[in-house]
Amino acid sequence: MNLTRRTLLVGSAAAATVLSVGAKASAAARPDTGVSAYAFPLTAVRLLSSPFTANAARIQSYLLFLNNDRLLHTFRLNVGLSSSATACGGWESPSTELRGHSTGHLLTGLAQAYASTGDTAYKTKGDQIVAVLAQCQARAATAGYNTGYLSAFPESFIDRVEARQSVWAPYYTLHKIMAGLLDMHLLAGNAQALTVLLGMASWVKFRNDRLTQTQRQNMLDTEFGGMNEVLTNLYQLTGDAAHLAAAQQFDHAEVFDPLAANQDSLNNYHANTQIPKVLGAIREYHATGTTRYRDIAVNFWDIVTRRHTYAIGGNSNGEYFKAPDRIASELSDTTAECCNSYNMLKLTRQLFFTNPTRTDYLDYYEKALYNHILASQDPNSSHGFQCYYVPLRAGGIKTYSNDYNSFVCCHGTGMESNTKFGDTIYFHDGGSTLYVNLFIPSILTWGAFSVRQETSFPEAGSTKLTVTGAGPFTMRIRIPGWASGAQIRVNGTVFSSPPAGAYAAVSRTWASGDVVDVSLPMALTREATNDNSTVQAVKLGPIVLAGLFGNSNLSALPALDPATLTPTSDGSVALQPFYKVHGQRYSVYWSVTGSPFVAHYPFDGSPADASGNGRTASIFSAGYVAGRTGNAVNLDGTAGYAALPSGILAGASNFTIALWVRLDTVTTWSRLVDFGTGTGAYLFLTPRSSAGTLRFAITTGGSGAEQRIEGPALIAGAWTHVAVTRSGNTGTLYVNGASAGTNTALTLGPSALGATTRNWLGRSQYADPYLDGALDNVRLYSRALSATEVNSLYTNGS
Ligand SMILES: [Zn+2]
Repeated sequence: MNLTRRTLLVGSAAAATVLSVGAKASAAARPDTGVSAYAFPLTAVRLLSSPFTANAARIQSYLLFLNNDRLLHTFRLNVGLSSSATACGGWESPSTELRGHSTGHLLTGLAQAYASTGDTAYKTKGDQIVAVLAQCQARAATAGYNTGYLSAFPESFIDRVEARQSVWAPYYTLHKIMAGLLDMHLLAGNAQALTVLLGMASWVKFRNDRLTQTQRQNMLDTEFGGMNEVLTNLYQLTGDAAHLAAAQQFDHAEVFDPLAANQDSLNNYHANTQIPKVLGAIREYHATGTTRYRDIAVNFWDIVTRRHTYAIGGNSNGEYFKAPDRIASELSDTTAECCNSYNMLKLTRQLFFTNPTRTDYLDYYEKALYNHILASQDPNSSHGFQCYYVPLRAGGIKTYSNDYNSFVCCHGTGMESNTKFGDTIYFHDGGSTLYVNLFIPSILTWGAFSVRQETSFPEAGSTKLTVTGAGPFTMRIRIPGWASGAQIRVNGTVFSSPPAGAYAAVSRTWASGDVVDVSLPMALTREATNDNSTVQAVKLGPIVLAGLFGNSNLSALPALDPATLTPTSDGSVALQPFYKVHGQRYSVYWSVTGSPFVAHYPFDGSPADASGNGRTASIFSAGYVAGRTGNAVNLDGTAGYAALPSGILAGASNFTIALWVRLDTVTTWSRLVDFGTGTGAYLFLTPRSSAGTLRFAITTGGSGAEQRIEGPALIAGAWTHVAVTRSGNTGTLYVNGASAGTNTALTLGPSALGATTRNWLGRSQYADPYLDGALDNVRLYSRALSATEVNSLYTNGS
């Protein structure tokens, strides 16, 4: 190897640039391609008091508590150096094949803690570890290993993985050490760390250049962490193409090929083995511009977050991905391995850099950060003990690691997750735009500006940003997808009421002391699982609430009546943010079979279901116009209608359908609502029957067997509230909040129709005319609202 000169030059340059506050994210020889947003260095963000600083303080205490010699014991023995230290236990015991991985995590944790706090104790400790690792690496030949080899286990483990013999995951462990060395170099300015890392990288290339492509691909069936990621990062840092070539030798075709074709083939794959590979793919895109790598990462993220992710943002059951959409059917004590979310968050921010117009990236980031990462450290441990799995079965309870006898993988990623909370709160665009992504109390230093964010979020749905410094820039504030009704004030004056799920831009020439207040209303909602719509989690804003069950184990999902849910509920089960639930049994998921509020379509520019039940409608040949409140869906009388999910009122005996309508034309036999399976079994509401009446009808025997309620026909041009209810055998038709007709022999309810498949607004089961007019606030319930409740909907326009 002949790399001393380049090493020293790159090392010093990188350290100087990264450590200077407000500099671009990377001191790399090669800029990332395909990115349009950038991170701030950890040095530019200081955290103010919050649950995150509490978690960080505990883990920082642990990082300083750990004894270096104990963490280096097996490294020394592996090259014939003496060590009198007490051996570690758990996954670091001298007989565990994964030994050494925690030392890598410790290096990253120390480097991040130093960058986040400026406390040189972390750097000093990390420097001491790097120095010993350098000694161990220098003895590789003496110990009978190839040049550059550095590990706590013998190189024969690599022979075994190449020969497809039984061995745990040697490259996984080497990746942690390499990543730790890179972080000590980039974040703590340690030049020796880069020298050692370059030695390891040369050794990796030497080992893999000797193999055929087939041998390498077979070897990749064994978990190897993010080898492609760290080697690509090294390529970006140094510009040496050998590292990219080495990285690409870890591109696992069996996993990448289906992802490139946007196929979900993840079933029965070990989850945390795959996520780092994909993190490598997005970095390979940033290094090469090859869009296939980007597609692999984007497709993987979409597949995992939409079809394999629990309400807390985690994935995997027993560490494995399952068939798509299996969520309610995969609740156990071994759900949601914490490493997976650590890696998914790293992937998410890289994807945001790639495409900052996608707002679902940071919505997911927030979801997993609060409900999984923050939720998985034991607040009763002064050393930040960490969950491995987060149980999501009813009656589950969190269990944690310990000082020296655990060292599971998630204990290691916990050291990393809890020392970098400042890394995603703010981004910039390389010019004069600042992204405010997360609502975590902190101070950002950005060139001539500083921004101080004060908030008690998520205890309260608001944040306050105070700017120091003068001059123009654009502040792009994330308005989360859950934050309907958000408002931004600048210096006390209302500036805008931005929509949910977008970045709101505040562009101005700032003066010191300018204050931006953001209010983010946190609604109580429920998130249904993909595979069982009655299994739901309760959320306040983005925060998952769990039911507290003390010492009571549960054998089934607890039942939840949503009507009893209020943020101040004094019911028999207390709900609490899941991230605060420790030391007792809990349930994140509930059985909501009795939920009477089935769906609510405000049609405020989207067909979304605002009930929280996720029963999104589909609209055809229709747009939006001003509604009774907000917007309404506008149907054209020729082809426009909305379709609701199958079985929308299945099982309901009593029911309510309530809606606002403004007819452009009163067309006989057009439909406000028509749910059915065809012309044999259906229920409908027409604004005008051939008898000149507003009519509700329901039948299981065609038109000749209809049971009806009649009222006064609707007129055109005015917003009218219409509701129909059934309680027992009494059906009531309401117009503008008052009873307009009854039928006390209404023996049929929606349950008699079975699981209806043709559930339409504005369209008939028959060849009747389409509705010509607008519909707003369509609400469905599986119970009869009272006359008072119906009148309240009318009075409130809701
Ligand atoms: Zn883990």
